[in-house]
Amino acid sequence: MRSAKLYRYELPMDSGVILREQRLKVREGFIVELTMDGQTGRGEIAPLPGFSVESMDDAYSQLVEQLALWQHEKEINLEALYPSVAFGLSMAQLELDGILPEEGCYQAAPLCSGDPDELLPKLNAMQGEKVAKIKVGLYEPIRDGMLVNLFLESIPDLSLRLDANRAWTAEKAQQFAKKIAPSLRQRIAFIEEPCQSPGDSFSFAIDTGIAIAWDETLQHAIKEEHFALEDLNGAKAIIIKPTLIGSAERCLGLIAKAKALGIKAIISSSIESSLGLTQLARLAQWQLPQEVPGLDTVGLFAQQLEVAWPGCELPIVSLSDQALIWQC
Ligand SMILES: [Mg+2]
Repeated sequence: MRSAKLYRYELPMDSGVILREQRLKVREGFIVELTMDGQTGRGEIAPLPGFSVESMDDAYSQLVEQLALWQHEKEINLEALYPSVAFGLSMAQLELDGILPEEGCYQAAPLCSGDPDELLPKLNAMQGEKVAKIKVGLYEPIRDGMLVNLFLESIPDLSLRLDANRAWTAEKAQQFAKKIAPSLRQRIAFIEEPCQSPGDSFSFAIDTGIAIAWDETLQHAIKEEHFALEDLNGAKAIIIKPTLIGSAERCLGLIAKAKALGIKAIISSSIESSLGLTQLARLAQWQLPQEVPGLDTVGLFAQQLEVAWPGCELPIVSLSDQALIWQC
């Protein structure tokens, strides 16, 4: 006997979460629950406004169609589905089949903005590699460069992940790089998408010796029919955001390919609820146990959903209090 439930959740966000210049007051998404032979598997489908191609309505239509197929033991073609839908359904199936291990990687690269003195206690509490993340590109590139240089100078065993979200022209990216002493550049693990165009980012990496990572470029490229990771030249790392990329199988394929090519793969969040986020932590621990994932986003919420993120003290609302909108 197979049965499926579909919940729609709404979670209030911490004030001041801005996505693509819009305040995100509430995060919406779906949780699917598959039950078979007394076992249950869950998955989260949460298109991210401004980033996902699909809307909540688009995802809903596909979900009810696919869940009915699943219930009748018909084949589901994950590759034909929206990324968020493919991801959520495949994670529910992995959990149902007992394939997704319980243990998760809950270590985060702390996000830092201003003061190295504030960051030091957090970093000292980290086990293993000291790695932090800084968002750049929001202010003047010269200021960003000076700040990054200061962090690297004051904490000798720190490595940094930077994210510019394609904010810079080639010139601005150069202004940034000039402020970072060449001897410190190696400790920038990577900068995600420094320039507006991938070609400029690629040249930036070669000219400055600062490693880059593809995030938006990967999301665009993977939609191409003949996508091949080896065609995405020049990056030391790829950022895999499963909600924007697709099924767990697709993510596993990318991770395997990245390993073969000597590229770091980093599992990252698309601001999923604590339920989806803990599953991402489990996926990361299972596939990339050596790599700190980019999952430091539970603090953007005002509430957690059903499953607690370890160490997070935000109140937890239960799934059964969310709207059960469909079942079969
Ligand atoms: Mg990014």
